[in-house]
Amino acid sequence: MAGRIVVVGGGFAGLWAAAAAARTRDALGRDDVITLVAPGRSHIVRVRCYEADLAPLRVPYDDVLGPIGVAHVDATVAAVDPAGCRVVLQPDPVGATPVALGYDRLILAAGSALRRPDVPGADSALDVDTLAGAQRLAAHLERLARAAAGSRHAGRWEAVVVGGGLVGLEIACELPARLARARDHAGDAGPVGTTLVDPAAQAGQAMGAAGPAIRQALVAAGVAYRGGAGVAAIDAAGVTLSDGTRLPALTVVLATGLRASPLAGMLGVPLDPLGRLPVDAFLRVEGVPEVFAAGDVAAARADAAGHATVMSCQHARPMGRIAGHNAVCDLAGCRQDSLPFAAPDYVTVLDLGPWGAAYTAGWDREHLVSVGAAAKAVKRTINGSRIYPPPGGDRAAILAAAAPVVQAPPAPG
Ligand SMILES: Cc1cc2nc3c(=O)[nH]c(=O)nc-3n(C[C@H](O)[C@H](O)[C@H](O)COP(=O)(O)OP(=O)(O)OC[C@H]3O[C@@H](n4cnc5c(N)ncnc54)[C@H](O)[C@@H]3O)c2cc1C
Repeated sequence: MAGRIVVVGGGFAGLWAAAAAARTRDALGRDDVITLVAPGRSHIVRVRCYEADLAPLRVPYDDVLGPIGVAHVDATVAAVDPAGCRVVLQPDPVGATPVALGYDRLILAAGSALRRPDVPGADSALDVDTLAGAQRLAAHLERLARAAAGSRHAGRWEAVVVGGGLVGLEIACELPARLARARDHAGDAGPVGTTLVDPAAQAGQAMGAAGPAIRQALVAAGVAYRGGAGVAAIDAAGVTLSDGTRLPALTVVLATGLRASPLAGMLGVPLDPLGRLPVDAFLRVEGVPEVFAAGDVAAARADAAGHATVMSCQHARPMGRIAGHNAVCDLAGCRQDSLPFAAPDYVTVLDLGPWGAAYTAGWDREHLVSVGAAAKAVKRTINGSRIYPPPGGDRAAILAAAAPVVQAPPAPG
């Protein structure tokens, strides 16, 4: 029997959903057609967008999906039509007749995007949410480096990062060194400065046991923390805070949180405050039997205590693998072989730039597992290999890595 499985999204959830679906399809001896729809030709290792070297972030879809018999359609889904069991692709070129893809089971894994604050100028501020955003930041720093030395623009070597969560902390700790390199290249002198702006009174306030390490790392990197502050406006020359303070800065990076893909809103079910779909233990969208959802687009129960999944690569990858497996079991009529999702061990490994990193365990990040260089080694392993698919187009290795399991947390370092 051959059914049609469509996976929307090629991030951590979508890539692994497609691979897991292929693994279970092959194990059951089925001929289902599995199609992954995502724009571009590469899976992007999004968690690395705060890094300076962007070259390793692209993993060609052909290298992973080709060997396991999954088709990739380079397109953006404009609409999901659950009643008609089809997704409608964005016409290319714009104005052409839209193409629709029918499905027997859909796995929605379209991820999330930066939620920009509703203030003047926010639309043109920089970000590290996507590879395109990270490239724009790199090009901006290059332009600063190339501008004539002595073009004394107030804020030329100043950056403001808006948002002191995980992404804001990671990019804030990187920016001083990147600004210093640009300044040196420009042959300029004088200090560089980075200010992290957030409503929380203290940096790392929501980071549990990692708080002290975060504050040390910010001081070591030369990042000033501006707590209790909101942003009123952003322009090409800096940021105006809600109390009227002006922070001159040619580099303004937003890290103001995420919101799930608008495709989630097309299934006609109530969404959570982050715009995520409610899914059952098997990652099926509640009330929409043909549709599974995984990654940032879905809110699943992660443990017996009722913690919900966090928008994270940590949860997106296993959710994808389990959704892919379950979608094939469902299609094959062997629901009894479906697996419930559970990820009771929540950890955070936060990069803190040249100072090191902080590794915490627990939903409130209450246990400090390691800090400094030891945690940085763990972060390098995660970012450099743990979250990558097996290289070299090795079919058996890719299918093995797609087994519907939740990896144990990384070793302490
Ligand atoms: C700088 C940064 C650092 C981070 N650090 C960490 C970390 O240390 N640990 C951690 O666990 N998480 C981290 N995260 C969060 C993590 O990146 C996300 O939670 C994760 O990427 C979610 O995976 P996903 O597959 O659900 O979505 P995404 O990775 O966002 O992938 C979505 C996919 O869907 C595609 N897509 C979107 N819309 C459409 C459409 N309409 N049609 C077709 N395809 C579409 C996209 O092109 C992409 O392929 C970080 C995020 C950022 C930005």
